[in-house]
Amino acid sequence: MNASTHLEANETVLHSREVDQLIVGHPTSDGAGVKLTRILTQTLHQRLDPFLMLDAFGSDSPNDYIAGFPDHPHRGFETVTYLIAGKMRHRDSAGHEGLLQSGGVQWMTAGRGVIHSEMPEQEHGVLEGFQLWLNLPAHDKMTNPWYKDIQSQEIPEFVTAEGVTVRVIAGTSHGIGGAVQKPVTEPLYLDLHLPPGSHFAQLIPSGHNAFIYTYRGTIKVEGKSIPAQHLAILSNSEAADGISLETQVASRALLIAGHPLNEPIVQQGPFVMNTPEEITRAISDFRSGRFAI
Ligand code: FE
Repeated sequence: MNASTHLEANETVLHSREVDQLIVGHPTSDGAGVKLTRILTQTLHQRLDPFLMLDAFGSDSPNDYIAGFPDHPHRGFETVTYLIAGKMRHRDSAGHEGLLQSGGVQWMTAGRGVIHSEMPEQEHGVLEGFQLWLNLPAHDKMTNPWYKDIQSQEIPEFVTAEGVTVRVIAGTSHGIGGAVQKPVTEPLYLDLHLPPGSHFAQLIPSGHNAFIYTYRGTIKVEGKSIPAQHLAILSNSEAADGISLETQVASRALLIAGHPLNEPIVQQGPFVMNTPEEITRAISDFRSGRFAI
């Protein structure tokens, strides 16, 4: 799954952020009955602005995922789907179709409206991955829909001297530019694979909101443990120039950060806008078929 290996630039963090709060996801189901864990929910919209949702799914039992996510709409934000294992086929109302495979990412900007389906393309085996929702600034909420399928080998990746593999999905790490660069929210999205006894540092602008989600092992930040299946909200201390983390056991974690929008957030299901009137408009546009591009 390795992409090209790059020579990293030094990245030294002088003062690390700390863990502000640990969050445990709750089991739920979505789509036509896909079992998943919803980790980032509406109660964290302000605190983790511009991020709106993080779901984790993972099962080797087809009954947990096979029904998939049949046709459904989105408006006003972006969905970022990262598949660790398995295959998902995407089709949308603009006629796009793509197959997301192990290690790959689909970045979709719903903008003014997309109707799409996300269906597992396997009848057995493990399906595992994450879906992150990233808000759009008010002036981009009605932009044209856009999406990109990024195969695993297209995701820039490097290995530190301590053996930490860093997959740079978005933003920049140690001088390595990620597969996606976005203005305004400037998202950083790293998948870290850490061997036992390793440490990793990443610069993060102090005004950006940031969190870590450990999905294997246990990560430690400033002495505080972040066990598997826990999300740690990182402090926003002005003195902190980044995050320094370590682990004693083999671990894997997502490190995600972004520039907050500081705009009103009104969500109803798959529509995320700035005002209740815009939500009403989204529902009526969807019902009257104006999402079909
Ligand atoms: Fe969707």
